[in-house]
Amino acid sequence: MSPKEVIALAKAKDVKIVDLKFSDIHGSWQHFSIPVAELSEGLFENGLGFDGSSIRGWKAVEASDMLVMPDSSTAWVDPFVEATTLSLVCDIEDPITREPYDRSPRGVAKKAEEYLRSTGIADTAYFGPEAEFFVFDDVRYNVTSNESFYAVDSAEGEWNTGKEEFPNLGHKIRHKEGYLPAPPADRLMDLRNEMVLTMMELGLKIEAQHHEVSTGGQCEIDLRYDTMLRMGDMMMTYKYVVKNVAHRFGKSATFMPKPIYGDNGSGMHTHQSLWKDGKPLMAGDGYANLSQEGLWYIGGLLKHAPALCAICNPTNNSYKRLVPGYEAPVILSYSARNRSAICRIPTYSSAPGAIRVEFRCPDPSANPYLAFSALMMAGLDGIENEIDPGEPMHRNLYDLPPEESSELPCLPDSLRLSLEALRNDHEFLLKGDVFTTDFINNYLEMKMGEYDAIRLRPHPYEYSMYYDI
Ligand code: GLN
Ligand code: MG
Ligand code: MG
Ligand code: MG
Repeated sequence: MSPKEVIALAKAKDVKIVDLKFSDIHGSWQHFSIPVAELSEGLFENGLGFDGSSIRGWKAVEASDMLVMPDSSTAWVDPFVEATTLSLVCDIEDPITREPYDRSPRGVAKKAEEYLRSTGIADTAYFGPEAEFFVFDDVRYNVTSNESFYAVDSAEGEWNTGKEEFPNLGHKIRHKEGYLPAPPADRLMDLRNEMVLTMMELGLKIEAQHHEVSTGGQCEIDLRYDTMLRMGDMMMTYKYVVKNVAHRFGKSATFMPKPIYGDNGSGMHTHQSLWKDGKPLMAGDGYANLSQEGLWYIGGLLKHAPALCAICNPTNNSYKRLVPGYEAPVILSYSARNRSAICRIPTYSSAPGAIRVEFRCPDPSANPYLAFSALMMAGLDGIENEIDPGEPMHRNLYDLPPEESSELPCLPDSLRLSLEALRNDHEFLLKGDVFTTDFINNYLEMKMGEYDAIRLRPHPYEYSMYYDI
């Protein structure tokens, strides 16, 4: 849609308000609104000012003026606002230099797409994320009560909180059996359908929706793959719809990776493929129908995986998910079958167009623009430097005896370790100025602050373990 068409759409729909949205470094949408009378072609050229110093991780007060630049191709009417409101996703510019702001995540994704084209290796990168999330009836009860801190795994892996329920209506999903019982055990069918229908109204292409493994109301809605920047915008819209529809149903949705101890966490497995001149670059006659480029791409992902975790698993909570036994990956390896490996090559179809790599580390607390950009830069680095991924791993990595698994390279087990990995390994992200040194340094400082925020606070479970020492 061009600016002219957006203005025509606003007239046709009798729009009253225009809402300008942009992603901060964490991947949360920030927004402000203007009356529709302010919508003009000039708005798309000149942007609109705001105070960048009030946004987490952005400019210092002495240089805080910034511009939002609405992207006319992102227009939709916001279904969650009472007055008819047209929503526009924006880029960020410096008002003096008129350069894109290098800490704007959407700007990073744009530069990543440009860099890909400049290499001549491929012209298009497709991304297909599977973002999981939890729906809680009352988030205060489920998340901040101590039940999940004190929960105990019995020999059968049952999650026993000792909580009684009134009334007990039966049709419960058994522990770790949330994938895929029909209603009434699946109580979130209507909610997910409402989410899917709303997403489709906003232009998202949906492939499937289902309950996920965790009993605690875990869900997944799958988007059809698309190009990187568009998928970044779509993931932002996805989260907005999930949270707002849940809110309307009197529920609360969270993309926190591991809200419940002893049960599956939420991942954002990310399927990736590169294409050149309309042809899939990763399909070939190597292992699992991969081409040499496909294998090198995996080599790049594996080599840079610890640093990638800092961006794809960017919260303290992320590392509570990356543990054995919950379908989350733990060991640096790849496989066509094995879900405990961090790279899986799906074998549902051997059609060249369907050949792709599924990177299973990321979780939905990641900023999608940054995660997709970083993954592609790692894969490209693999191709540029012909990085051999080694042999695939076929055994279930969760079941390896400790003497064998301790030999294998593991993922970082804390935000601090992944930040250290990123500090030592980020040259591959700086190519084409996709991520700048300023971006990386600022990110490391901001995230170390998050690491300390948890490290400095006594944890409730410490009372159980140490109070009577
Ligand atoms: N929830 C699992 C994870 O954390 C994935 C489960 C699945 O989709 N097979 O990655
Ligand atoms: Mg899935
Ligand atoms: Mg899933
Ligand atoms: Mg998957």
